[in-house]
Amino acid sequence: MAKRSEKAFYITTPIYYVNDVPHIGHAYTTIIADVINRFKKLSGTETFFLTGTDEHGQKVEKSAAERGLKPIELADQVVGGFKDLWKALNISYDFFIRTTEPFHEKGVQKIFQRLKEKGDIYKGSYKGWYCVSDEYFLPEDVPLEEAGYKICPDCGKQARIVSEECYFFKLSAYQKPLLDFYAQNPKFVRPPSRMNEVVSFVNQGLKDLSITRTSVEWGIPVPGDPGHTIYVWFDALHNYLTGIGYDWNMELFKKFWPATVHLIGKDILRFHAIFWPAFLMAAGFPLPQTVFGHGWWLKDKTKMSKSKGNVLDPYIILNTFGSDPLRYFLLREIPIGLDGNFSHEGFLHRVNSDLANDLGNLVQRTLTMIQNFLNGKIEEADKEKEGDKKLRLEFEALKEKTIKFYEDYALNRALEEIWSYINSVNKYLAVNEPWKLSKDESKRKRLGRILYQAAAALRTIAYLLFPVMPESSDKIWSFLGERKTIEEESFAELKFENFKLGQKIKKPDPLFPRIALKAFLKEEETRPAPSRKEEKMEYITFDEFNKMDFRVGEVLKAEKVEGTTKLIKLEVDIGTEKRTMVAGVADVYSPEELEGKKLIVIVNLKPAVIRGIESQGMLLAAEVDDKATIPFFDKDVPTGAKIK
Ligand SMILES: [Zn+2]
Repeated sequence: MAKRSEKAFYITTPIYYVNDVPHIGHAYTTIIADVINRFKKLSGTETFFLTGTDEHGQKVEKSAAERGLKPIELADQVVGGFKDLWKALNISYDFFIRTTEPFHEKGVQKIFQRLKEKGDIYKGSYKGWYCVSDEYFLPEDVPLEEAGYKICPDCGKQARIVSEECYFFKLSAYQKPLLDFYAQNPKFVRPPSRMNEVVSFVNQGLKDLSITRTSVEWGIPVPGDPGHTIYVWFDALHNYLTGIGYDWNMELFKKFWPATVHLIGKDILRFHAIFWPAFLMAAGFPLPQTVFGHGWWLKDKTKMSKSKGNVLDPYIILNTFGSDPLRYFLLREIPIGLDGNFSHEGFLHRVNSDLANDLGNLVQRTLTMIQNFLNGKIEEADKEKEGDKKLRLEFEALKEKTIKFYEDYALNRALEEIWSYINSVNKYLAVNEPWKLSKDESKRKRLGRILYQAAAALRTIAYLLFPVMPESSDKIWSFLGERKTIEEESFAELKFENFKLGQKIKKPDPLFPRIALKAFLKEEETRPAPSRKEEKMEYITFDEFNKMDFRVGEVLKAEKVEGTTKLIKLEVDIGTEKRTMVAGVADVYSPEELEGKKLIVIVNLKPAVIRGIESQGMLLAAEVDDKATIPFFDKDVPTGAKIK
């Protein structure tokens, strides 16, 4: 098996499903990847950091239809949201892959074809629990009810057993090769507890895996058999190959494959630790070094998810604090293998105590003293005394430990060590009381030494913190009058004495705002979650407005659209004629409630086909937390009246 050069490092996040809203959970995974990648870069390694979106599948098809969009239009919107969030979080990825890109689709088809020719993919028949209403096979892990059938987790209806023709991957043939591989590479899955979980699952025996569907259109067609669509998991996992150039930039691919670490949430461990290496073995690719399954940030002790409605919007924090405090909190609070419970109180406590008090004050105090006592420059310093030396030696030990912890993805431990050093520097200033020496001209060199030690220590602290808090670290270096950026100094070059006498110190701005808990929480409760729509107000002209034909419509008939949970088909009298419209309001209103009601409709909107029904207009509704509230007329206004 080919070995990747030690000099090349390749890290990935899962590709995020576009049938979701970006939340703290996605932010967490991506921040971890960014921190590890920045650390590796500082160590002088050539790195590649891949993230992206998973855009195929029935759920995307369905959500798009419910909004009157094409699947790719929905994907484009969500991708924009993810990219904005990565920018706001200061994520520095190298490439953003979308599974709808032609080069990805082509690469997946090529591998599919190769496995088919080899006999690792064969045609058979899949039998499983099928929801007629949602037109999909239930995931295998949906439990059997006592009555002997399964219930669809999406719509709650009873599913039935259906079989359809499909392609299988011969996973059963890879049980032994996988177990051998795990035995030879005990660090393939981390943390170790997850490795045990995987091994015991594989030991129970592996069944062949169905990897295509005939009922899903939104996906990659099977080469030579376009009635079949490649199932999302087989499609999605291969992004790790196509995203690094497989089949379109083989030079890049050869440089970085196999991946050093696939960072994932623990819920998708089985796909990454069992199916993925089996696919790769079958296709003859070298296997990744590590799959790291991190824990979850829970809200009210449960996993955040769109369907539970408990996702936390990262912008609530980002708009007030910027990215560094959030990055710091998520990594400091828990080891990345475990779960943590997210609370705004916990976040604020960390920010006020660790960031504003410990670090922020140290920067402010040290630099202000250099400004006020030494005219912004340490020109001379006496020799290091025993007590001064301690700070330099402690740094040497800290550097070694921090590197080790970063290497080991023990990011919380690295931060703990750095903070214990910050406290040492604070203590050093408290013991040496430089403010008392400032008035005595004969103590100037001594004063210079004390402030030099503090400033030199700060320079190293900023450096070591850079992977986690790049923005604040850069600021500290610029306050210290450094001419180069942190990224221009490698870990090997980092020394305490790299801070030079005579550097012109700038007046520091406060690094972290100190926000009172009550004020923040109150603001958070009352502020509507900012959406992308609200950020940029786009104006239309009066003429454009005048083109829109709004009228009072009367609902003559209403019925649910078969096979959907949200859609209602309406027959609406608009004064001049009857129109058919489809509205996504069934989760709030029953058809009976709507019949006979008068509401606002726009009648000259281009018709859209939704679930096979042509919708000739749209009704207006307020959207709060994804739920519609329709404004009805309580007075008797004539049907068809214009609204201006
Ligand atoms: Zn269903």
